[in-house]
Amino acid sequence: MTFQEEFVEEVRNSCDIVEIISEYVDLKKTGKNFVGKCPFHNEKTPSFTVAPEKQMFYCFGCKTGGNVYTFIMKKENLSFPEAIEFLANKAGIVLPQPDDSAAISQKGRIKNIILEILKDAANYFYYNLIKTESGRHAFEYLIKRGLSKEIIRKFGLGYSLPEWDSTKKFLESKGYDEKSIESAGIIIKGKYNNYYDRFRGRIMFPITDVMGRVIGFGGRAIADSDSQPKYLNTPDTVVYNKRKNLYGLSIAKRESSKKGIIIVEGYMDVIALHQAGFTNTVASLGTSLTIEQAKLIKRYTDEVYLAYDSDEAGKAASIRGMDILNDIGLIVKVIMFPEGLDPDDYIRQKGREEFHNKINEALPLMDYKLMTLKEGYDMSSPLDKRAYISKIAPHLLKIKSFVERDAYIRKISETLGIREEALRIDINRYSKKNQYGNTIEHKKVLKTHNNKNNAKFKIMPAHIKAEWDLINLLINEDQVYELIKNNFSLSDFIDDINREIAKIIYSLKNSQTEISPAEIVDKLGREEYVKRFSHIVARDVIYEDAEKTVLDCIAKIKGYKLQQELDNIQQLIKKTEASTKSNEHELNKLLVKYQEILERKKSLKFGC
Ligand SMILES: [Zn+2]
Repeated sequence: MTFQEEFVEEVRNSCDIVEIISEYVDLKKTGKNFVGKCPFHNEKTPSFTVAPEKQMFYCFGCKTGGNVYTFIMKKENLSFPEAIEFLANKAGIVLPQPDDSAAISQKGRIKNIILEILKDAANYFYYNLIKTESGRHAFEYLIKRGLSKEIIRKFGLGYSLPEWDSTKKFLESKGYDEKSIESAGIIIKGKYNNYYDRFRGRIMFPITDVMGRVIGFGGRAIADSDSQPKYLNTPDTVVYNKRKNLYGLSIAKRESSKKGIIIVEGYMDVIALHQAGFTNTVASLGTSLTIEQAKLIKRYTDEVYLAYDSDEAGKAASIRGMDILNDIGLIVKVIMFPEGLDPDDYIRQKGREEFHNKINEALPLMDYKLMTLKEGYDMSSPLDKRAYISKIAPHLLKIKSFVERDAYIRKISETLGIREEALRIDINRYSKKNQYGNTIEHKKVLKTHNNKNNAKFKIMPAHIKAEWDLINLLINEDQVYELIKNNFSLSDFIDDINREIAKIIYSLKNSQTEISPAEIVDKLGREEYVKRFSHIVARDVIYEDAEKTVLDCIAKIKGYKLQQELDNIQQLIKKTEASTKSNEHELNKLLVKYQEILERKKSLKFGC
């Protein structure tokens, strides 16, 4: 929608910038201006100023500034026309009728009609709940659930009459046509092209957008019944998309910058928490959280508290939702409830104070994952420990801060009684095998890490590097184990430490199918072995053709050995020749041996 200049000015003049910004920022008066902490960048000392005389704001820290529209556009992530609409609604100024506006699109016109229909429907449902005989049992049900009249009004709860077309008739009496009412999601077309009410005999929860406009409904059946779903929602329409909305956000956003946002699952949880004073609560409306919802939340806060039913929280879908929030940069904490209780139950049974304590005790996301993923494992069993580690590894790798990740690795190593180094190796191994959960930062670091090591390898003799590669291959590529074992014995290792490491790997491989680096570390024992092994594993080399690499490595090591023998024989030959006491027989023997070794060296198979 485009607005006339006069209208833009009228709205701006009706919205005092100090009043509007105060809803988001704690402002203190200093002289003729107000100052506060900037909502657009992190700061400890306030450099954000609002000048009521000029009706302007400016931040000396991040150099953001403007008027009340600029502020709302930035803070609410709205376009200019949306910011005008937003502030007009706030100031109670009626928007110009679609006809008044010259360049109004057809789509915008339909959208406006749908919003009008939904608003009228919400009023109708509210009337049914409060004023009709038929709505009384619904009202009593809500009161019995502990809701106050005030909160019912605040959330505009209502009741749809248990008839096939009462809502339809009401809206038609207001002048709307069937097609528009259908587009609003209120009625459904039946088999014989007859329309009937979507919501019948249900408690109605109006769903609003961030500006507080009704964009859809949730309808809850009062009695539990097998034939009817407990909850019924508006389908996606021109104005409503369930993936992009959060129930209660239009209210919750006001305090969210200070307190964070509490995310619950259902309508009743939101309302119960708001009534108890936790007005920063929203619901994801039955779906697991979407990226759109996460972005919406990020507009208002950096911190979220998840308060899911105890039996829902641990489910994979819930954890995925938590990851979405985490990935977008929100600090995620999980509020834990006793089994079988949802937030609504909890606050009714235990009260406000106890709930407040629950918020303070909320677990950081990673701690929560470590705890829930542990379920079903017997931590006294090494196999279970290993399975658990492989399960948590991708989550650990998601932690972007290395300091934080390090702290968790230390913590896990303590709880599981596994050496930190072993754990690290296992987790790194996981990162190599599974790209899932690898953050870009992590990859970057690995890359530079590799480069650094590659530089070292330039001065590392080829045969030693080949031994390192063989060890790496033994651990990571099961399919080449036989190939290595059959062509390369322990005595073929040149380096003593490498040989010791290989010895342990061979013995483990003989007794079990799968081995983990962590396990090997435990078996290695000696510090210098562990150090070497950790270094080898941390190199994170990817072998494109494992079998070819194996053959190359073996050829290099054996070739190196044979070359050494050749060098030795050459020395002996020289010595023998130089000897005054010429020994033809001895010399011949050496020459034959030299030739023989040379042939063997030539015949060494390279993988190519
Ligand atoms: Zn700033």
